[in-house]
Amino acid sequence: MEMKFDEFEISNNLKKAVKEMGFEAPSPIQEKVIPEILKQHDVIGQAQTGTGKTAAFGIPLINDVNSKQKHVQALILTPTRELAIQVAGEFQKLSKFTKVQTLPVYGGQSIGHQIKTLKRGVQVVVGTPGRVLDHINRGTLKLDRISKLVLDEADEMLDMGFIEDIEKILQNANEERQTLLFSATMPPAIRKLSNKYMKSPEQVTIDKGEVTAPLIEQAYYKVLEKNKLDSLCRIIDSETLELGIIFCRTKKGVAELTESLQARGYMADGIHGDLTQSQRDGVMKKFRKSTIEFLVATDVAARGIDVKNVSHVINYDIPQDPESYVHRIGRTGRAGKEGMAVTLVTPREMKHLRSIEREIKNAIPSRSVPSIEEVVE
Ligand code: ADP
Ligand code: MG
Repeated sequence: MEMKFDEFEISNNLKKAVKEMGFEAPSPIQEKVIPEILKQHDVIGQAQTGTGKTAAFGIPLINDVNSKQKHVQALILTPTRELAIQVAGEFQKLSKFTKVQTLPVYGGQSIGHQIKTLKRGVQVVVGTPGRVLDHINRGTLKLDRISKLVLDEADEMLDMGFIEDIEKILQNANEERQTLLFSATMPPAIRKLSNKYMKSPEQVTIDKGEVTAPLIEQAYYKVLEKNKLDSLCRIIDSETLELGIIFCRTKKGVAELTESLQARGYMADGIHGDLTQSQRDGVMKKFRKSTIEFLVATDVAARGIDVKNVSHVINYDIPQDPESYVHRIGRTGRAGKEGMAVTLVTPREMKHLRSIEREIKNAIPSRSVPSIEEVVE
């Protein structure tokens, strides 16, 4: 028997909001994690990307927040600004019928505006570690009365070098709090962090040993460095594609490939760390609305991004490490939809491909680049 959201001990207003979001049944991680959080236990939740981890902590958290009290009661830390905005958006939907206020705080947005909103009183803050720490140091965010602290996409936050900021934040937060940690992978550094800052956490793991989502089809194309752009174009022309994210190794690579694709008439735009926040928001908006078909991005810029209808992830540059491969391809095949992950591999990058295959415990099938005749009708 499939479980229903109705069976959780959560408020009716929250059940109504979940229903409006179109969620019919809890995902496996939600089914296991929500009751534990409602029991006020510390929880470590590990599940591949796209399995609904946001609502797994969002639902019990919104349920437990007291909207009549105006102080900050919950803090969620996320690796990027885009993710902070996305998580805050999901929280706003969950609190549609309650008066819980959520504020995203991140670098690149005027701090004055954030301070003003914090003063007016919000119950939930979602932020990147750097900006959160900035607010703590200015005295504009106080964590002495929070009852919940969430580390979302913990592996990615550590990857990005946020460990010191995170520890400072954890040391600043009310000791009586509940601490929740979510991650797609569990490297030793996360164990260390949880041993130090969590109280006998319940560990919930979904699909152990299966690192990549089953609905993502994978393939690689052997290409020559000098033919990479042509090969990419032939591949995307031959695929039935809704929205695609194309990954490059560097910011410069993103800028150059974006330009080349635009010059060839593709609806493409790029995001990377050198753009201003409003430029990045603008590109993301266009992508979500399908005004552009291709988002060209670096790993950092695309972390945790959840856009529906991403049918293809294309590794224009093969990722340097296997974990980043898992994260990248997790941008497709979301919420039960099918996805395709394509990787371009130059002869000297074959060793990277093999180490990825070892990590995901699967062989990635090879395909050959379609000829001109195959793509031109
Ligand atoms: P993760 O953090 O595990 O990568 P997200 O929390 O971003 O995954 O969720 C992925 C997508 O699945 C989102 O679009 C979210 O709205 C959707 N989703 C989450 N829970 C459910 C559910 N129970 N039923 C249907 N869709 C869901
Ligand atoms: Mg997530």
